Amino acid sequence: MQKRKNVVVLGSINADIILKLARLPKPGETMKLQGFETAGGGKGANQAIAAARSSSEVHFVGRVGADAYGKMMCELLQKDGINIEHIKTDANNPTGQAYILLQDSGENSILVNSGANVFIQEEDVKDARYLIEKADVIVAQFEVPINRIIEAFKMARAAGVSTILNPAPATKVPDKLLELTDLITPNEVEAEMLTDIHVDNPISQRNAARMLQAKGVKNVILTLGSEGAYYLTENNQEQAVPAFKVKAIDTTGAGDTFIGCLAAKLNPNFDNISQAVHYANKASSLTVQKIGAIPSIPTEKEVTRR
Ligand code: ADP
Repeated sequence: MQKRKNVVVLGSINADIILKLARLPKPGETMKLQGFETAGGGKGANQAIAAARSSSEVHFVGRVGADAYGKMMCELLQKDGINIEHIKTDANNPTGQAYILLQDSGENSILVNSGANVFIQEEDVKDARYLIEKADVIVAQFEVPINRIIEAFKMARAAGVSTILNPAPATKVPDKLLELTDLITPNEVEAEMLTDIHVDNPISQRNAARMLQAKGVKNVILTLGSEGAYYLTENNQEQAVPAFKVKAIDTTGAGDTFIGCLAAKLNPNFDNISQAVHYANKASSLTVQKIGAIPSIPTEKEVTRR
């Protein structure tokens, strides 16, 4: 049996406000909502929960506001057994909020109010040093300040802890962060932002992955939506791993499920990358069949019985 992974997530915590609508309104148009729901979210929280539900020990480093959403989110993370000792309560900024415009097509558009997530301080990372140094892997995304990720990845690298960077939402990335990254996991939009290569076929996938390696990243996994994923490793193993054929109802949280599950399943030397990607594809194909992010993230039991 695989050893239980010790995962640190440095990331965002949001309350998701899900607005269901037939389609996006045009400029100047007023439309009726078809439905309204509040749920837990934030890329960091989603990925932490995905890793925890796939049997990892997860420690969270982040910030919430001193408000009802912050309390709700801490309780939600604890319910999945996540250690919240290093989630600080920010007296001056609200808990992050995301307004998810979920359209009939199953596609979504998202507006984020970052709140406390972007006020994570250098001290917060320093306080978590002992946790980072004893982890198997640290995972981070771009809803928190990039400098905090660099500080945390430096600590991880010095201690021989693997670093996984989910470069979402899409943004340019300083090379010094890429050089500290053992595995990067962009989707097609993020890959294009990082490499200026439009990723839409096997050749462009390989070229984008090689360019990321040339910038200092060791291993690359591109997530390709309903096409699955493609990976290129440090020792030049590569594979396109097809997605599971399912009817997508809501793709919110697909990428986060994928990354949390990878963190939970990848061996530190990445020698089981093919199996880990297969597992992550399977898990995220379950996520897209249900509404919302956190409620739809499967447990290991649900993934393996499929
Ligand atoms: P993101 O949500 O970050 O944009 P992707 O859209 O690439 O990421 O999705 C992440 C993973 O979720 C994919 O690699 C795939 O395994 C799974 N997935 C996404 N959409 C579908 C779909 N329509 N059918 C099956 N699996 C999907």
